[in-house]
Amino acid sequence: MINESGNLSVNTEDIFPIIKKWLYSDKDIFLREMVSNACDAIAKFKRLVSLGEADADPDEQYKIRVVLDKKNKTIKIMDNGIGMTADEVKRYINQVAFSGAKEFLEKYKDQNEASQIIGHFGLGFYSAFMVSDKVEIDTLSWQEGAEPVKWISDGGTTYEMTSSEQDTRGTVVTLHIAEDSKEFLDKHELRRILEKYCAFLPVEIYLEDAEDKKKDKEEAKPVNDTNPLWLKSPSECTEEEYREFYRKVFMDFQDPLFWIHLNVDYPFNLKGILYFPKLRNEFETMEGQIKLYNNQVFVADNIKEVIPEWLLLLKGVIDCPDLPLNVSRSFLQNDGSVRKISDHISKKVADKLNSMYKTERENYEKYWDDINPFIKFGCMKDDKFYKRVKDILIFKSTSGDYTLLKDYLDRNRDKHKNQVYYISDEKQQAQYIRIFKENDLEALYLDSIIDSHFINFLEMKESDTKFLSVDSDISEGLKDKDGAGKDDKKLEKTLENLFKECLNRKDLKIQVEALKTPDIPAVILQSEQSKRLQEMTRYFGSPTVNNFPSEQTLVLNRKNGLISRLAILKDNKERKQDVDLICKHVYDLAMMNHKPLEPEEMAEFVKRSNKLLSRLTELKS
Ligand code: ADP
Repeated sequence: MINESGNLSVNTEDIFPIIKKWLYSDKDIFLREMVSNACDAIAKFKRLVSLGEADADPDEQYKIRVVLDKKNKTIKIMDNGIGMTADEVKRYINQVAFSGAKEFLEKYKDQNEASQIIGHFGLGFYSAFMVSDKVEIDTLSWQEGAEPVKWISDGGTTYEMTSSEQDTRGTVVTLHIAEDSKEFLDKHELRRILEKYCAFLPVEIYLEDAEDKKKDKEEAKPVNDTNPLWLKSPSECTEEEYREFYRKVFMDFQDPLFWIHLNVDYPFNLKGILYFPKLRNEFETMEGQIKLYNNQVFVADNIKEVIPEWLLLLKGVIDCPDLPLNVSRSFLQNDGSVRKISDHISKKVADKLNSMYKTERENYEKYWDDINPFIKFGCMKDDKFYKRVKDILIFKSTSGDYTLLKDYLDRNRDKHKNQVYYISDEKQQAQYIRIFKENDLEALYLDSIIDSHFINFLEMKESDTKFLSVDSDISEGLKDKDGAGKDDKKLEKTLENLFKECLNRKDLKIQVEALKTPDIPAVILQSEQSKRLQEMTRYFGSPTVNNFPSEQTLVLNRKNGLISRLAILKDNKERKQDVDLICKHVYDLAMMNHKPLEPEEMAEFVKRSNKLLSRLTELKS
């Protein structure tokens, strides 16, 4: 006959307020802790059976029951696992669980970070007191002749041990829910917590309502999937299973593009599936979700210390039983095995991309638009990753194909050595793209949000390569190689002066060139440097974006009929007004090909257009 009582720990009173405060936002982890203990107890018993040390009915159904009793304000967590003897209760509950909790708190009570880590990793059995004012354990050990034990503690400072009526092997933990935690006396709430933390636990979990037994029995279906896809061998999983798992876990009904099944046994244990989500549109913030599990128990989403930041753009599950998860974040950051894990994941992603590039080029190109922001971000954040994928970074070219940067540079070496012309906005730069195409020049599309940063990154990495926007420069390949004679020089000066006078804009440079495409009167160029500065300020959301000088140049094409006619017309006094209108119009039209006009500029443009049209009607027929 067991009859014992005692104090649990000298200082428990000091600990309580601290735990309560810290765990407040993450109180619901108590259920995860209780259910994981039950799960461990079953795993331990099964191991004994498999070792031949314990006997069990071969048809025994191992399960965990979570029973809600609203009337009595209790939640019971019941398992048919290993159970505990009185000695074990003393050792594991009175000593291990409590001293563990005490040590944990003493270590972290002065650290702010503990408040984050503690919620994620929990406090084991002790967390029961987060929501209960009384906790009871009824347990019967697997050992022959074991006596059932009852353990009771009010508030976690003292305990009592007596005999119990528990007549089957296993443990029942009864939580008497405290007044301030009443929200947990709700079946939906319990289901939500179980689905969040225990959805993939290896033992079936049944949620029951004590008052509604019959109905529950009929509906009995475990809340969890005991054999999650990531544990299966990749060769046994079908595409549909991967998609289905994705839909279920991430509630994303858009199919993922592809996935990587991680399955490592050595030098550490890691299993998981990473999905490349399809982006709905370019401007959707790329926000992934990586769920971290420890032996199928959910720990938390997106733990940056374990998963490389850039991988957080993906969606996936990672189960890593080897992680020292009960330690602080700073420890995780400095822990060698954690770094190895994150390196390994990054290598696996690079391997998959390399193999796709080699064996499934068509798919690789098809997915490129969706995956490139992610890969580029990875390159900028993780140098090892960059080295692994730098030879498979492809770029869409005006030729219509995808190309490697190296091939682009080789192909265009004679036209523009070490220079990459890029398009950052296909619509806005349509005219420039046309000029490029007509002159047999090639430019690359670098038009996703991340590209303005990626260009800077590439220039840093490939130090002799320069990126120039198609509207920042008149490439040599666009110029007519006739060479400017004396008369041409004179014409150029005349035109320059004429436009300077008409436009009267100090912030605008005027340059006259002979372009190979004669039907274009003028284009606006913006210096690469000012363009990048603008991109950067726009990215950081600075309101002063318009205050930066945009360093624009109006390039007039003297090979164009309209432009060359203006030089003649300007001396005709009667047509002075027309010349003035046309110069302004040439400028506005060039500007419109560069960026949308401001409202007042547009109004002016329309007014002038009407004037020009009526001038046309005045011309003699
Ligand atoms: P941990 O699970 O991390 O060891 P806990 O504080 O959760 O720490 O539990 C302390 C110990 O109590 C466990 O290691 C286990 O030996 C014992 N224990 C807790 N719950 C059960 C249970 N349901 N069945 C059997 N033993 C249990």
